[in-house]
Amino acid sequence: MRTPATANAGPSRPVQILVVEDDETIGRHLDTGLRNNGYAPSWSRTGSGALAEATQSAYDVLLLDLGLPDMNGLDVARMLRARFPDLLILILTARTEDIDVIAGLDAGADDYLVKPFSMSVLLARLRAHLRRRPIAPPPQDPIRLGDLVIDITARRCSVQGQEVELRPKEFELLAVLARHAGEAVSRETLMAEVWDENWFGSTKTLDVTMAGLRRRLSGVAARSARVPDITTLRGHGYRLELD
Ligand code: CA
Repeated sequence: MRTPATANAGPSRPVQILVVEDDETIGRHLDTGLRNNGYAPSWSRTGSGALAEATQSAYDVLLLDLGLPDMNGLDVARMLRARFPDLLILILTARTEDIDVIAGLDAGADDYLVKPFSMSVLLARLRAHLRRRPIAPPPQDPIRLGDLVIDITARRCSVQGQEVELRPKEFELLAVLARHAGEAVSRETLMAEVWDENWFGSTKTLDVTMAGLRRRLSGVAARSARVPDITTLRGHGYRLELD
């Protein structure tokens, strides 16, 4: 159902992203989030591992943590920039000192994100950079489930051709469920993908947004329209049912 973010140079293939991050939680979150959004990530936990991996496979993007256990991330950036001039390098740093950002950009990075950052911000930055490069991902095909059509690229949702006006978070919630249609999606995954990876507070906002989404979908649907149900999975999350 999900459409890979593909490189348009040559045969269609997903954008290859090398994630270099020693923090297990952040690394797993990045790996899952990127995979769920059609990218093809590989994950290295060390600088030396990343250097070895980068020479084995053709990567389009490097997501690089600066604080690595075995070497300075800036050196990794410098070495890979020298070897791969077209590689898009995004630095992930917990450091907010301007000097680190400057050093990172001087070392060959194209951009940086200061932790904690949200997955949606990272994805937006990636899209923005990739648009300007020959590996820009093409628009995703709309997802069709019965009479419900979700156009993620255009951020539109319709039932039998009638537009459903959704709030931004309602749309993002629906988009995540639609990409996993027929699958159980946990509350944690939804919180991480729609809100923020560092969300430790109440998840009541999820319930409120879900209630709004259901209301809007049922409000617009004609009696004869086939709109998939969103099933509540008690103690776990939700599932958008396949038609
Ligand atoms: Ca680190």
